[in-house]
Amino acid sequence: TERVAFDAVKHTENTLSMLAHEARAAKVDLLLEQPRLPVRLHGEPGRLTQIVTNLVVNALHACAPGSTVTVSFEALDDGSAVMRVQDTGSGIPEDVLPRIFEPMFTTKPVGQGTGLGLSIIHDIITGHFGGEIQVQTSGAGTCFTVTFPARPPGA
Ligand code: ADP
Ligand code: MG
Repeated sequence: TERVAFDAVKHTENTLSMLAHEARAAKVDLLLEQPRLPVRLHGEPGRLTQIVTNLVVNALHACAPGSTVTVSFEALDDGSAVMRVQDTGSGIPEDVLPRIFEPMFTTKPVGQGTGLGLSIIHDIITGHFGGEIQVQTSGAGTCFTVTFPARPPGA
């Protein structure tokens, strides 16, 4: 597959519609906040699918019924873009936080988590998109912030 310019929000709408069933089963509201300006990314659209899917599935796992998971985008003036996946779940404990991007690190019971989700998307975000991922967490929930540069590597 090859790099194309694509509408990140439209693409994410499709990805979230594939996750709607899982959200409904968890009784969690899955929302997409529309940005004021369109957000265009350069890369393989399937890589964004993987980023959104892994972050949202983790968020759904962390949330009690009645919680909300919100995905939002923002186009910045310098041409870069930000995506946030915010949940109102349990938060990430202090002793777990430094390890979440390690391959095969999981706090889930055997058979329920491979511990690869965040490791894989960290590599996609940095390697494919030339961006970065940051996390903020508290007892009120967790927010993953992904920053996409205006021009990815090799573009
Ligand atoms: P897995 O989901 O298979 O455990 P991940 O790499 O996706 O592996 O996540 C690693 C760990 O990070 C999880 O086991 C969990 O402890 C923590 N984590 C990730 N996302 C969240 C979240 N939104 N809320 C709370 N904990 C999280
Ligand atoms: Mg996961």
